Amino acid sequence: MSMNVRHRISKIFQPSTVISKTSNLTRPDVSSKSQRLMLELGIIQQANPGCFHFLPLGLKSFNKLVKIVDRAMFNIGGQKVLFPTLINSKMWKRSGRLEAAGPELFQLNDRHKNRYILSPTHEEAASDLLSAIGPISYKNFPLRLYQISSKFRDEIKPKFGLMRCREFIMKDMYSFDVDVESSIKTYEGVCDSYEKIFRSLNVNIVKVLGSSGTMGGNLSHEYHIKAPIGEDNLLSCNKCDYLANVELCQNQMCPNCGEDSKINIQNGIEVGHTFLLGDKYSRSLEANFISSSGELKPFQMGSYGLGLSRILAASIEVLSSETEMRWPDSLAPFNVVIIPPKAGSKEDAATKNFAETLYDQLEVQIHQLQDNVLLDDRSSLTLGRRLIDAKRVGYRFVIIINKRTLEPVPLYELNDLKKDVQLLLNETALIDYI
Ligand code: ATP
Ligand code: MG
Ligand code: MG
Ligand code: MG
Repeated sequence: MSMNVRHRISKIFQPSTVISKTSNLTRPDVSSKSQRLMLELGIIQQANPGCFHFLPLGLKSFNKLVKIVDRAMFNIGGQKVLFPTLINSKMWKRSGRLEAAGPELFQLNDRHKNRYILSPTHEEAASDLLSAIGPISYKNFPLRLYQISSKFRDEIKPKFGLMRCREFIMKDMYSFDVDVESSIKTYEGVCDSYEKIFRSLNVNIVKVLGSSGTMGGNLSHEYHIKAPIGEDNLLSCNKCDYLANVELCQNQMCPNCGEDSKINIQNGIEVGHTFLLGDKYSRSLEANFISSSGELKPFQMGSYGLGLSRILAASIEVLSSETEMRWPDSLAPFNVVIIPPKAGSKEDAATKNFAETLYDQLEVQIHQLQDNVLLDDRSSLTLGRRLIDAKRVGYRFVIIINKRTLEPVPLYELNDLKKDVQLLLNETALIDYI
């Protein structure tokens, strides 16, 4: 392997924005811990209110989430597509959402004075696609199309960094079934798949009944990460298992079991939302199939959103401390960082190439570490200073090469940030541990 292909900190574009929590220069637009840490540590950079640049570490992490979600969608028969962002507003007029969506909708004219919107979600576009193709036999369904793309919403108050943006990245799936029963089956399959995704990220989720809002349809569920800064209020009943967003049951007591039950309210960050839509969009946009008896019938649809950029920020929000960022293991941009001795020190001379050799060994022997090991080659800095940096960014395993490495059998100092332990291990034991 050539030296150049190893990941080296000195080569990573990671400009930090200093926004110390204790400093009186705290910026008014920084409203959450995850936002502050992600800016301070060079993960994202703000472009304008509610719009962010993903810097290399942020995008590397985000792409891991995309891979997890792609795999999960493939497992339930999802086919990945990409709908355009510019959508003719006529489609939204036909579904009745042009008015209903209100000022949150970004609208614009082209040079010929045709009206467009920057799509905040794609139910109309997906239905119009099926309509434009023309009716196909019922035998070709169910169909599950999904995309991962930017969504645009003119939020009154963008805040919390990636959590409430005006431009953000969503995974949205649209399902087309030929009857209600099979659309319910599809719906349940996607719900299961969402729970698996969140389990694999190791973040706790609550699934609650959601309000269908302007989306329409008969049934909807929301997925929330519980956190004090969450902007949604989640209601739970102490007498039954009713769980719902208060948007659904304003001014009521438990709507499920009656009046004398006690209602608890908790804050949640909405990270996903599933809707059983029925034929609201297929009827208004004429998305039909040919049924077994030869008639044209509108599809039974479902729509399923996951706020991917919000999931990244929300998981950092709940895992991090005020001073140190923590990621789900499966999303951290790197899992291991190796810190060799300071340049010019005795240890430096005696351990030449130890770091590179260990780097290559880890990548070769541990399949999951491929592309996930990082060398902290800023050799003018002390080990201690670089350890502090590694802890702040939150690389799970920090391996330090210091004078203990010179003992008869080379030993490496392994810091496991998640378990908060420090161990001295030879190479075999180190690989086993990781
Ligand atoms: P919220 O209640 O937070 O405004 P929503 O109910 O309007 O969200 P949906 O239309 O259900 O959002 O969109 C699906 C998912 O997209 C949401 O569950 C959330 O994870 C994500 N999302 C929605 N709005 C934003 C935003 N402004 N910034 C980042 N992610 C968002
Ligand atoms: Mg909203
Ligand atoms: Mg909501
Ligand atoms: Mg929602």
